[in-house]
Amino acid sequence: MSRPPYVVTLIPGDGIGPEVTAAAVRVLTATGIPFEWETQQVGATAIGEHGTALPEKVLESIRKNKLALKGPTETPVGTGHRSVNVELRKQLDLYANLRPLQSLPGVKSRYEDVDLVVVRETTEDLYSGLEHIVVPGVVESIKIITEKASTRIARFAFDYSRAHSRKMVTAVHKANIMKLSDGLFLDCCRKVAKEYPEVAYEEMIVDNTCMQLVLDPDRFDVLLLENLYGDIVSDLCAGFVGGLGMAPGANMGTTGALFEAVHGSAPDIAGKNLANPIALILSGTLMLDHLGEDGAAERVRKAVRAVLAEGKKLTRDLGGTAGTTEIAEAIATKLGGC
Ligand code: NAD
Repeated sequence: MSRPPYVVTLIPGDGIGPEVTAAAVRVLTATGIPFEWETQQVGATAIGEHGTALPEKVLESIRKNKLALKGPTETPVGTGHRSVNVELRKQLDLYANLRPLQSLPGVKSRYEDVDLVVVRETTEDLYSGLEHIVVPGVVESIKIITEKASTRIARFAFDYSRAHSRKMVTAVHKANIMKLSDGLFLDCCRKVAKEYPEVAYEEMIVDNTCMQLVLDPDRFDVLLLENLYGDIVSDLCAGFVGGLGMAPGANMGTTGALFEAVHGSAPDIAGKNLANPIALILSGTLMLDHLGEDGAAERVRKAVRAVLAEGKKLTRDLGGTAGTTEIAEAIATKLGGC
């Protein structure tokens, strides 16, 4: 008897989104695990069709399926609609952004054997979108930090560390300046850390963390950050493992999970078959992990490693000349032997 498929909300997104999501779907389908993809449009396309960047039917689809695979979406700078990503995370309470960053074979980088995990809170902080003009020429942007959200993300980081035998959590902050908000975040992290004596705990100011990371990423293990610091430090860490084309991610909540790469819509290379789809393919392996399909997740990781090690079908960002579709095809073909 054939297995019922996992129904996944598929959001192609903007820019390189449709190219990398098609590549990820190609590879995930090649695992033989049955999937049914429910395609939904957000962003500029959705505004044209539904008058809003995040139509209610997209939220309904994810609430029903509890599972989404998403390409990046563009957010206008300074004006225009609010970020679909921020709104999705808030509306669906996808509070934990998990971003594992690991060196892979054959990928040129100044750093070797990097193995870091960024855990970023994603429902509050300066991303709450609470901005207003006080008087012309003066703008106020409000940073929200709550005990509830800080405790919840700290617990997520320590639970993840315990489950994955991680040795140390570093809480990253600027509590020397933002004594109340980042101070509260740290208080919550300290309290949670006491419940996990097997995981070491330290605190580090964010600017120093950036410098220490660049000098020696190996001294870190799991980084626990508020929303804004987490966003910035994730891109920094992506630089250690070959760039944004190699950095996967998951947005985890209490009732569902949405998988998407760290990178954005890359308008500079969109529509040219140049994007590296590995970040989203690896985000797909995080989805397989989440579904308990460990065997399939490992087979995809092995196929990715094999294609990278061979070095024949690499995209431009990795020093090759292959296109998005070619590298995806090579990974899908390798899966047969993994
Ligand atoms: P970006 O991540 O889109 O691009 C930064 C650089 O990395 C560019 O040079 C790009 O070509 C390169 N790059 C990114 N992904 C790549 C890939 N898969 N393969 C090869 N090269 C890749 O960041 P940006 O230019 O700052 O943002 C562009 C848009 O994306 C903005 O509208 C921003 O708001 C949005 N964005 C969306 C998300 C998301 O949907 N999760 C995340 C970040 C940025």
